[in-house]
Amino acid sequence: MTKQADFDAIVVGSGISGGWAAKELTERGLKVLLLERGKAVRHRQDYDMEGVPPWDLPNRNEIPEAELDKHYKVQRDCYAFKEATKKHFVKDSENPYEHPEDKPFKWIRGYQTGGRSLLWNRQCYRLGEIDFAANKLDGHGVDWPIRYADIAPWYDRAEEFAGISGSMEGLPQVPDGVFQPPMEMTYVEEDCKKKLETSFPGRKMIIGRTAHLTKPTEEQMKLGRLACKSRNECERGCSFGAYFSSQSATLPAAERTGNLTMVHNAVVQRINFDEASNRATGVYVVDAVTNERREYTGKMVFMCASTLPTTQIMLNSKSERFPNGIANDSGTLGHYLMDHMGGMSGGGRIAGFLDKYQIGRRPNGVYIPRYSNIDDKDDRFLRGFGFQGGSWRQGWNRGGDIRGVGEDLKAELRQPGPWGFAMGGFGEMLPYKSNRVWLDDKIVDQWHMPILHVDCEFGDNEKAMAKAIADDIRGMLEAMGATDIWLNPDPAPPGLMIHEMGTARMGHDPATSVLNSVNQAHDVPNLFVTDGSCMTSSACQNPSLTYMALTARAADAAADMLAEGTL
Ligand SMILES: Cc1cc2nc3c(=O)[nH]c(=O)nc-3n(C[C@H](O)[C@H](O)[C@H](O)COP(=O)(O)OP(=O)(O)OC[C@H]3O[C@@H](n4cnc5c(N)ncnc54)[C@H](O)[C@@H]3O)c2cc1C
Repeated sequence: MTKQADFDAIVVGSGISGGWAAKELTERGLKVLLLERGKAVRHRQDYDMEGVPPWDLPNRNEIPEAELDKHYKVQRDCYAFKEATKKHFVKDSENPYEHPEDKPFKWIRGYQTGGRSLLWNRQCYRLGEIDFAANKLDGHGVDWPIRYADIAPWYDRAEEFAGISGSMEGLPQVPDGVFQPPMEMTYVEEDCKKKLETSFPGRKMIIGRTAHLTKPTEEQMKLGRLACKSRNECERGCSFGAYFSSQSATLPAAERTGNLTMVHNAVVQRINFDEASNRATGVYVVDAVTNERREYTGKMVFMCASTLPTTQIMLNSKSERFPNGIANDSGTLGHYLMDHMGGMSGGGRIAGFLDKYQIGRRPNGVYIPRYSNIDDKDDRFLRGFGFQGGSWRQGWNRGGDIRGVGEDLKAELRQPGPWGFAMGGFGEMLPYKSNRVWLDDKIVDQWHMPILHVDCEFGDNEKAMAKAIADDIRGMLEAMGATDIWLNPDPAPPGLMIHEMGTARMGHDPATSVLNSVNQAHDVPNLFVTDGSCMTSSACQNPSLTYMALTARAADAAADMLAEGTL
């Protein structure tokens, strides 16, 4: 066993939350060790698929069935998983987990520098007051220990640094923030918006709020970031640094302080704990390549490995004091797993606008924020849902829609086809104790880590909501004048919306929650958990912006405590 030097803070994971923790803590002058289990993916140098056209990609960017079956049984279901991006996803064959056969759970992961910040779809919406109050109001889950006013300044900070483009709308369910200029809607979207808002007063269609630079600030340019060029191949990595990733934004900011040490291939397995001081002392790591065992020590530990790995590590951190996992006096660690409910989708053809075309490949769409259970109560279900969607003009590959042979066919293929509009719902999932993860001590992975069992399913509220979402999609498409409407009314299995949350929730009461109002473990004062596992409810907005804000807020509190000597 090798013992390593002492740090002020150890951050586990370099994805969205870990990058933010590293930036904020190093900027406060702390010496930070950032541990990442995956390989190094360097900004610019390692984006080798960037700009490669489909005809130069193996299999025209598709992945052979045999390879999918052998290595990617789960990842293959992610829309962004392609030949050009597969190196940013894990091989399922090397990273096993279990779930009951009748309760599928799709765990989509990226283990490398930046985690899934390289891969994400970058949609960013604040949670509103209604979300932080929801548990208390209807009694599902425990009360959030914070309210919107507590996090609002940290949303400002996260948006300003990350660079979020969007429009000011004055909607309390998705509060406005510090935005760069919004991207534009297409003519078709403008028209759909008008028709939707006329037919359904109370519903709004807005341009997506997205972590892309449209007017970089001086600070962003100092970090080498430029405005988005609308190439829409973000998941391969972007040398312009135009979308927010750890590589483009938080890691360079942390590095320039001179306070960051980053180690790759460091699979954290346990948080070490000293009973006498009641403090975490550091972490135990297995090197993913050499299998070497190491321990690192630090004055505090920030868990940012993403929801399920963080909880896996915490459950695996057993001691006499914590036989069921560190900071688990409440017995809630591993419980109340949530994802968003999605997959219900629909679309149709929009007539006209044949003299219009979209410019570039806008990496963004439109958003219809939540409208249910805000002013009026919908008796069919609790909470609410939003929609992401967009319009496009069909290209040459419109299959059977184009008839003819020879010259006529070729001429027709050169013309853009009709316009379409499609949308998909994102519904809030309630926190249920029975939705949980636990360790199977009998099965370990190749690094000797007990694997996770995931036991998660949607409840009656989600099923009622899924039906309402599908009905509303049809109603809205009809109102927009869409024809040839197609509809998929069925929710995808949990996990597939890639918004796993909960399992180490925040709360007022140490008897019913793991973390306090600044993401500090109730039971172990120098342990902080700031990724999605901290979420007390899921709301229906894409959650990563909230992880950024919560992480920045927690890092500030932790740095204060360290300075005051109260940690
Ligand atoms: C295709 C796709 C689209 C998405 N779209 C959106 C969107 O539009 N909006 C949105 O809000 N969210 C979106 N998400 C989700 C978003 O990516 C995640 O919410 C976010 O990345 C979570 O941040 P994180 O830091 O908690 O985890 P991650 O970004 O996953 O990072 C976790 C890091 O921890 C490392 N790690 C894990 N275990 C260990 C260990 N034992 N030891 C050391 N390191 C470890 C991992 O390798 C990884 O680098 C999307 C995700 C995907 C894949």
